[in-house]
Amino acid sequence: MYVIKHIKDVKIEIQKFTDQKKSIGFVPTMGALHEGHLSLIKRARQENDMVAASIFVNPAQFNNKEDLKNYPRTPDKDIESLKKTGCDLIFIPDDKEIYPEPDMRVFNFGDIDKLMEGKFRPGHFNGVALAVSKLFDIINPHRAYFGEKDYQQLLIVKALVKQLNIPIEIVPCPTIRESDGLAMSSRNRLITEENRKNVPIIYKTLSRAKELSTKMSVPEIKKTVISIINSTPDFMVEYFEIADCNTFFLINDWAETKNAIGCIAVYVSNVRLIDNIKF
Ligand code: AMP
Repeated sequence: MYVIKHIKDVKIEIQKFTDQKKSIGFVPTMGALHEGHLSLIKRARQENDMVAASIFVNPAQFNNKEDLKNYPRTPDKDIESLKKTGCDLIFIPDDKEIYPEPDMRVFNFGDIDKLMEGKFRPGHFNGVALAVSKLFDIINPHRAYFGEKDYQQLLIVKALVKQLNIPIEIVPCPTIRESDGLAMSSRNRLITEENRKNVPIIYKTLSRAKELSTKMSVPEIKKTVISIINSTPDFMVEYFEIADCNTFFLINDWAETKNAIGCIAVYVSNVRLIDNIKF
């Protein structure tokens, strides 16, 4: 397995695979890897001749300096896990490699990036699009793998390749959870022991909302979810919205779509977690 820091070296290695007409699967990550990330690597392994991953904590997508500083970093352990999972190449650039000078591009994703994560983390998706477009350009994969855990990000990346005519297939992968339902996340390791006991309430409440959706209206479900989670000590819902899975337009009535998704962001003390459920 190659572990590479510089763009020019990645391009040389990638070219060797391309010359042999090998298909390339790519998994971009910010590291602090867990089974959720590794599920993407495994899927890419099944569907491609060669698998590349990147580990880059992208400063452009953090709108909060403290959050960027506190983001967990475990590069040595990550390299070990990727090796064991069958990754062929890891690209670990530093900030200067990706942003040798400030990248001022402004993307327009219409309404998708104005709500939920886009509303509460202004500039977040523009930062995601900057990094992803650069990584796509460097790796030039046939397929790229993204988790449904970050559902809105998945839609943004799909919109990005469409807008820029990038010929990469975006492959959505299901959310991997702990046995108690908590969606795996690099941020989970920041949760205190005390809060960790209560945190399954998030997915439990989303699952309950799905059951109740045959009996309750959209506004009632939203109110119920928010009030259950907010009644847990140290938990504060930032948003819970229900949208169409494809257009991401918010709905107020179940009749507005056959494919609804409920997306939530919750502060558990100072740790911000997101999750979602398809109705
Ligand atoms: P991140 O390192 O958080 O930027 O995530 C890198 C990729 O892994 C993204 O496509 C995420 O959606 C995906 N991912 C993160 N957590 C999970 C999970 N629990 N299940 C599946 N995919 C995930």
